[in-house]
Amino acid sequence: MFQKVKGFQDIYGNDLLYWSKAENALKKLVDLFAVEEIRIPILERTQVFSRGIGDATDIVEKEMFTFADRDGEYLSLRPEGTAGTVRAYIENKLYEPPVLKKLYYMGPMFRRENPQRGRYRQFSQFGTEYLGSKSALCDADLIKLFVSFYAEVGLGGFAHLEINTVGCPKCRPAYKEKLVAYLSQYEDQLCADCKKRLYKNPLRVLDCKVETCKAVTKNAPLMIDNLCEECDVHFSDLKKYLALLDVEYAINPYMVRGLDYYERTAFEMVTDKLGAASALGGGGRYDGLVKLLGGPEIPAVGFAIGMDRVVAMMKMVQELTDKKPLVYVVVFEGRSTDAGVEILNKLRHLNISAEIDYDIKGLKSQMKKAGRSGAKYAVIVGEDELSRGNVTFRDMYNSSQNEITMEEMYKIIQADK
Ligand code: AMP
Repeated sequence: MFQKVKGFQDIYGNDLLYWSKAENALKKLVDLFAVEEIRIPILERTQVFSRGIGDATDIVEKEMFTFADRDGEYLSLRPEGTAGTVRAYIENKLYEPPVLKKLYYMGPMFRRENPQRGRYRQFSQFGTEYLGSKSALCDADLIKLFVSFYAEVGLGGFAHLEINTVGCPKCRPAYKEKLVAYLSQYEDQLCADCKKRLYKNPLRVLDCKVETCKAVTKNAPLMIDNLCEECDVHFSDLKKYLALLDVEYAINPYMVRGLDYYERTAFEMVTDKLGAASALGGGGRYDGLVKLLGGPEIPAVGFAIGMDRVVAMMKMVQELTDKKPLVYVVVFEGRSTDAGVEILNKLRHLNISAEIDYDIKGLKSQMKKAGRSGAKYAVIVGEDELSRGNVTFRDMYNSSQNEITMEEMYKIIQADK
């Protein structure tokens, strides 16, 4: 017997009701916000990610599923959707004509992380990218779509939006130096990971969850207090537009996203209901990425929502029950079966969900199956009733039954559709 690969999941049964609800919500919202779909490959050249996401990030350093293809070329399973979307945007010249391009994707991502609750090696993301505007209104409207999704799936009250600004290539280098100078004084108090981050990716020290690191960063200089004028204005505008769009938020100056390409706006949806896996989604502005991946200089902003965590949360706070057939058709060998199949067919044409027992195993067994199916009605096609143009119609919920004409049977069922 085989077992699935570590960190991968089979999704089936009742869980799929939650997935459907979440996917329907996203379809509704992308229509409302006029965002078009893009379907990009699951496999890309490794460089798309190493250059795009950044060599010093956890994702690229240790989490990608990377292999050499038969011709020696390095390929990776996509760990996120932005780099691939931007690669496709450039390759297919989607920046022509030069109008704002609003793209969304939904599908599996792969990261070789240590599996735990809410953290898998294959997981799904719903992501959106707005390419072609530098405006803070663009960020705000994208964030409105982002938060609307959580509200639409019933999680509005169970998670909250945090925003921050991570500066830009103009003001971040000087700030980084200031931060490193500060953190170096307390190097011996930092955790092993942060000691490495201090030189490779110092901003990441700010969102370390280890208590001793938190104690050190409590008084650290923050990006938000060290912005250049343009970044400062952008952040003020963002706050103004979020207020106009009725988006509630908290500012978390310690939030730094784990990917290198972000600048200015960064945001996350967080919850305290999923233990360590507290981020339900996040995003930010990435004005340099299109150029970095070989395209023209085009500013952009985007988000990715972790659908597995959203579904896990939905399961905690709401109950969805399985869809049941409305009708179970019960038949006997011979003429009854033929008539039963015709009834089944007609019900489906009338858009009524119906089932039949393919193995025709006797009345008792079929009534048991009808009960188990959860159907509200059983239509029992007995030979005698059939000769009178009738069927026996049973209401499974209150266990009452009587003989009625076919026409009546269709009428009652249709009224209950
Ligand atoms: P990121 O691209 O890292 O910003 O991730 C965006 C969202 O995807 C996160 O907020 C999580 O909800 C989700 N996510 C990231 N990694 C995983 C994982 N290994 N398993 C499940 N969900 C994940």
